[in-house]
Amino acid sequence: MAELVQSGIAAIEVRGLAKSYGGVHAVRGIDLTVERGQIFALLGPNGAGKTTTVEILEGYRSHDGGTARVLGYDPARQRQQLNRQIGIVLQSSGMDRYLTVSETVAMYAGFYPRPRPVDEVIELVGLEAKRDARVLKLSGGQQRRLDFAIALAGNPDLLFLDEPTTGFDPSARHEAWEVIKNLAALGKTVLLTTHYMDEAQYLADQVAVISSGLIMAEGPPATIGNRELARARIHYRLAGGVTPPADLTAPAGPDGLIELAPDDLTTTLHRLTGWALEQDVELTGLEVIRPSLEDVYLELTGGPAGHVGQASAGTTIAQPASIQPAGRKGRRRA
Ligand code: ATP
Repeated sequence: MAELVQSGIAAIEVRGLAKSYGGVHAVRGIDLTVERGQIFALLGPNGAGKTTTVEILEGYRSHDGGTARVLGYDPARQRQQLNRQIGIVLQSSGMDRYLTVSETVAMYAGFYPRPRPVDEVIELVGLEAKRDARVLKLSGGQQRRLDFAIALAGNPDLLFLDEPTTGFDPSARHEAWEVIKNLAALGKTVLLTTHYMDEAQYLADQVAVISSGLIMAEGPPATIGNRELARARIHYRLAGGVTPPADLTAPAGPDGLIELAPDDLTTTLHRLTGWALEQDVELTGLEVIRPSLEDVYLELTGGPAGHVGQASAGTTIAQPASIQPAGRKGRRRA
């Protein structure tokens, strides 16, 4: 990694990547660059090609077009070298439930040439209090922390997180997000796939939306798809008996909500609130709304976003090459 930093090479560099399964064109010539230290989120509906792309980058799948470089390695030809420097968090459960937290982390650390000290890893994921607890005694959220700990045991430069919070309750999700943010603070590069727009919005520096094997848009969550340039809308409700000037109102929806889509947001908002103060009326539910990441996503993919309903709360970590089963897709969901 030190050489990479010096050479300025991106953590992941993909050009014209393509992969077909028989007649199914799963990935159709995509370009991606993930800079070192970035959290990069790959978003897309079911069957978009996310897993295929990620598995090619991890060295688990061959590709039939284009090039891929991960930490400077060709994942198809240099998988062993690559495996020593990446950590992978999958979705299905597979660890020995009778080992303790520290035994589990130590076991995985033993597969790597330069592991991070076990106690440091446990602290990083906030499992100090559960250090000597057996895996089977951990809550779902704590098991997810242990998944991250295992992925971190080898002190990887790059982490692949496959739908890291699918099936989690809100507090476990937020805990996992904090762990991921901690990784970024350590300078790790993270490539994650997710169906949750709020997750991408909160975590990612850069987002790519993939659909039918093509990248539809890429950019920071705040600006992807020209989000920041899209027209803002004003929402408000009024108590009965008062009528604002004609250009500050519109027919109310069934819930009484009035929506304006002004050319000049600042002026219109100023006039509306000025009028309300003058008239001493309350604008309940007053909001300025801009297209969310989910709106952009829906527009780009032409379908309902997120909440795909995969229920697996457990996860597992791919093991180093020497103990890795041949394929991982079949192990993804327990
Ligand atoms: P999801 O969000 O459901 O996990 P995804 O974006 O990860 O979807 P992929 O798993 O990469 O999508 O699948 C892309 C396409 O390739 C789909 O049409 C899928 O059916 C097909 N596909 C994936 N793996 C195989 C395989 N081993 N053999 C044949 N077709 C496959």
